[in-house]
Amino acid sequence: MEHELKIYNSLSRQKEPFEPLHEGYVGLYVCGPTVYSDVHLGNCRTFVSFDVIYRYLTYLGYKVRYVRNITDVGHLEGDTDSDAEDKISKKARLEQLEPMELVQRHTRSFHHILGMLNTLSPSIEPTATGHIVEQIQMVQEILDNGYAYVKNGSVYFNTPKFIKDHGVYGKLSGKRVDDLLSETRDDLKNQDEKNDPSDFAIWIKADERHLMRWPSPWSVGFPGWHLECSAMSTKYLGKQFDIHGGGMDLQFPHHENEIAQNYGACGCMPVRYWMHGNMLLLNGKKMSKTPDPETGKSNSITPVELFSGENEIFSKPYSPMVVRFFMLQSHYRSTLDLTDDALLAAEKGFRRLMEANKALQGMASAGKGQEGPLGKEIQKLIGQIHEEMNDDFNTPRALAVLFDLVTKINSLKDGHLPMDQISEETFNRLKHTFRNFIYDIFGLKDELEAGAEGNGLAEGLMQLIIDIRQQARASKDWATSDKIRDALKELDIVLKDSKEGTSWVKGQ
Ligand code: AMP
Ligand code: ZN
Repeated sequence: MEHELKIYNSLSRQKEPFEPLHEGYVGLYVCGPTVYSDVHLGNCRTFVSFDVIYRYLTYLGYKVRYVRNITDVGHLEGDTDSDAEDKISKKARLEQLEPMELVQRHTRSFHHILGMLNTLSPSIEPTATGHIVEQIQMVQEILDNGYAYVKNGSVYFNTPKFIKDHGVYGKLSGKRVDDLLSETRDDLKNQDEKNDPSDFAIWIKADERHLMRWPSPWSVGFPGWHLECSAMSTKYLGKQFDIHGGGMDLQFPHHENEIAQNYGACGCMPVRYWMHGNMLLLNGKKMSKTPDPETGKSNSITPVELFSGENEIFSKPYSPMVVRFFMLQSHYRSTLDLTDDALLAAEKGFRRLMEANKALQGMASAGKGQEGPLGKEIQKLIGQIHEEMNDDFNTPRALAVLFDLVTKINSLKDGHLPMDQISEETFNRLKHTFRNFIYDIFGLKDELEAGAEGNGLAEGLMQLIIDIRQQARASKDWATSDKIRDALKELDIVLKDSKEGTSWVKGQ
């Protein structure tokens, strides 16, 4: 495939040319949400980042199988909890709900919010509870290969043995082996059962107080959190696949343990490119649902609070597309600080981009225009947008080049730049580039227009109709040209002809 995409691999800590394991196909796995509560905007940032990555890989022509899981069992409460309990089980017990009731409530709301942010659905969205059999199988394989042991019905991964046999533990997170060995893990309850503090549970025995548990060869219990991603990525993408993503906070212990488990079961590194999105901050501090031990308050805001304006942090509501645009304005590996000023600026930028696109799509090329310096400059800028995206999906720099083109479009519209210096081919390429990047790759849509869902399609179809009418007029086929105008009028769409070309408006 012809492209020069480079991806920053967290494992090698450098940008590497992207070469998929199977020509033309990409396997992409992203760690999804733990559905014990609604997602916050930080979670959304990670999913928006990978949505753009998925969209761009598809744009390059790859057939992408995108797997993003739902964690509905196994994610244990934090280090301070001396009585290890699965987050879902605990919340369900406290709220007197069936775990499945809680899980479905938050899964629905997760889908709804990601829909508002216009993210595409993954190809497969497997749940941990739907893959207990596969997880039990993997525990058995790890045991058979000698990388785990059973204690009182729970199964623990033997971290020191793994470190001794394979030099990869700690490589992803950059942690030193000595630190890893002395570090204790989140399943503190059974600390004294472990042979070593760095060992971690892959199967946890649970008593009847625990709402979610399954029979296994070792005990009635539930799988450890890290195991689901190892088992489900292997099932749907194979023992080795192309890209594994998630937020940076998952590098350790989650992804480090995933690698250990996959090695333990299959004897190989599961992933070619590890990609990690950086954190969303709220007024300078990491967004998180966990309450601050000093203030007792959590530093987070839900998407709905931000979209509706019902919060005490921001001066006004911000629409989902403004928030999405705001996220694209920073590189996925940089932190991003959510502040009122930044959102106000994003709102202005977003409107400017959408207005310029609307004007551009309504403009006609000068027809016989020769390629002059302006046309050549536009060609160069179009190439540059692709180069920026090929440079580890650099959305802020690609957007900056798109804005250089916005300036040109506005000058063309006002007659300050000569249209006849741009060939028809370049002008059409400019229109396509705007449509492709705004709608298909960046996943933006104009919320001010009715039926914004089909925005890219509507723009494309309208352009086709305007072009056909233009051709009819050029060949003095007034009957066809009038028929198009009248039929559009019936649909409440008015065409406006001007020196710069034809534009359209709905509902006047
Ligand atoms: P969780 O529901 O906590 O398992 O997290 C779901 C995803 O959101 C994971 O990929 C996390 O790394 C990511 N995440 C959590 N907090 C943030 C944050 N403040 N900014 C960006 N991503 C986050
Ligand atoms: Zn995961």
